[in-house]
Amino acid sequence: MEKGQISVQTENIFPIIKKFLYSDQEIFLRELISNAIDATTKIKTLASRGEFKEELGELTIDIILDEKKKTLTIRDRGIGMSEAEVKKYLNQVAFSSAESFLKKYQDDASIIGHFGLGFYSAFMVASKVEVVTKSYKKSAKAVKWVCTGNPEYKIGAGERDFRGTDIILHVSDDSKEFLEKARIQSLLDKYSKFLPIPIRFGTKTRTEWEGEGEDRKSKEIIEDNIVNNPDPLWKKKPNKLKEEDYKSFYQELYPYSQEPLFWIHLNMDYPFNLTGVLYFPKLNNSLEVQKNKIQLYSNQVYVTDDVKEIVPEFLLLLHGVIDSPDIPLNVSRSYLQSDSNVRKITSYITKKVADKLKSLYKKDPKSFEEKWDDVGTFVKYGMISDEKFNDKAGAFTLVKNTNGEFAVLDDYLEKIKATQTDKHERTVVIYTTNEKEQHSYIESAKSYGYDVAMMNNVIDNHFMQHLEQKKDKITFVRVDSDTVDKLVQKDEEKASVLSEKEEEKVKTLFTDALGDLKGGNIELRPLGPDDHPVMITKPEFMRRMKEMQMMQGMSMGDLPDSHNVIINANHEIVAQKLLSMKGKEKKARFAKYLYDLARLNQNMLKGEEMSDFIKTSLEFMK
Ligand code: ADP
Repeated sequence: MEKGQISVQTENIFPIIKKFLYSDQEIFLRELISNAIDATTKIKTLASRGEFKEELGELTIDIILDEKKKTLTIRDRGIGMSEAEVKKYLNQVAFSSAESFLKKYQDDASIIGHFGLGFYSAFMVASKVEVVTKSYKKSAKAVKWVCTGNPEYKIGAGERDFRGTDIILHVSDDSKEFLEKARIQSLLDKYSKFLPIPIRFGTKTRTEWEGEGEDRKSKEIIEDNIVNNPDPLWKKKPNKLKEEDYKSFYQELYPYSQEPLFWIHLNMDYPFNLTGVLYFPKLNNSLEVQKNKIQLYSNQVYVTDDVKEIVPEFLLLLHGVIDSPDIPLNVSRSYLQSDSNVRKITSYITKKVADKLKSLYKKDPKSFEEKWDDVGTFVKYGMISDEKFNDKAGAFTLVKNTNGEFAVLDDYLEKIKATQTDKHERTVVIYTTNEKEQHSYIESAKSYGYDVAMMNNVIDNHFMQHLEQKKDKITFVRVDSDTVDKLVQKDEEKASVLSEKEEEKVKTLFTDALGDLKGGNIELRPLGPDDHPVMITKPEFMRRMKEMQMMQGMSMGDLPDSHNVIINANHEIVAQKLLSMKGKEKKARFAKYLYDLARLNQNMLKGEEMSDFIKTSLEFMK
């Protein structure tokens, strides 16, 4: 065998390769299999062009584990290499590309998918690498190349009677994990799932059943363990696919998952190449659990499932696959966002998603409405975080009211304008966050002819704030933020049956009886005789501030749980009964009781306060 030196410049490249991003050592397998795929694709191309005339034969790539010899072999039946090619490609091309790769990224752990270290990544896990290869060219001889992880290599005649290349890794002692079958299988599952050439990892046994009843017998069938699906759904033509195909592919990606709501097939070849399929999962009113499930591929080679530089934030809620060879992969992540191709891809995906939602709503409003609880979370998140999406979303942003009726947001605003415009010309959207807890308030709003919108989504707080900023002259008030006569601010004031002096008396009475309201007010108002005698209202602004703080996990220490107490001056219990009661203490007790009734209606009585309330009620009955 002939000896040689790979390079004189970088004596220490092997230790560097070995240490390179220790946590990502496993990418060696992807890199070597990618080379095998390239070599196989090349021979297929030559054959299809008529430049290779022999039978192609089997093209399956084999991953062979030999625990005894401590080797892992990647075997392809691709174009192979002649001796001159080995010298050129492995000693020069592969080496210099690894060298420049390392120079560039040694200190930058953020490069996307650590793509492109290539052949020399073998030395991350192997103490010795043997390459046995035979070129596809007629009369080519087999060649063997051996390198033990220093700049010296040996090259000579090899033994091999078929076309292609074996990369034999003598796995080093500190990388023993790569001699475990389960570890390799899981790496293959991760990186090779959708590679375009079949990849075989030994064999597997499958049980098959034959016969019926008592004669039923099982049979063990040993078959090739093919680890990938070379023809994944996203590469197929959308018009050739059925609903079932998309659903079963979803299961292939995320086994045992809840069925997705719908999907978008991405298919683009100009000005950049991008394919993929994005699924809308069931969100179940949550924004966190399912994030980061989109997988990025480059020509069916898995790159990463961390795609936040490529996909707008709100789209990270989606699941599925994006495959684009036009996304630059051997660059740092921070660079990606500024790359013009990536920006185009981002806006293309956003547009596709918006278009899909629009067409789904147009085609079948009923079924879209049924899915609104899930889709709405996503759409609202998108509107808040993405200007372009916001501009398009008007066509399919729905509002649901307490009667279960849906309307497109703008239509809804138009509809309520007549009855719900305040003195500042603002359209007032009256909403509830909980139909049950705010029931009596909703009923009284309805009795005024107001419509009450449902805003019970995790994101609605932010969404309302967003709309108030974006849209001209609209405001949101929760149905219990004020008494119904004040929800939509008007100037007119009804007359009170009480004199000013009597009103003063009632107010003092309540002020003394209720004690500290932590910043809340007591106010007398001439409401309708059928409205409650005492009502609790929670001012919109303070309440929302508090909820925002809570959502962001901030302490609520500085903002008190403030509520206002509104006394209905026109209610007979206040105007007649209370005022005519004898004895200061009795009056105070009764006032407190009316207040507790109002708190009960707001679900504010808990524990001891609730017990006391019941006790007092029972005493009153006696
Ligand atoms: P890259 O694949 O990015 O060019 P590599 O370092 O992985 O860089 O490989 C360098 C070259 O070695 C390849 O371009 C190819 O010509 C050759 N090569 C590597 N592996 C194989 C293989 N399995 N079969 C044929 N040629 C190969």
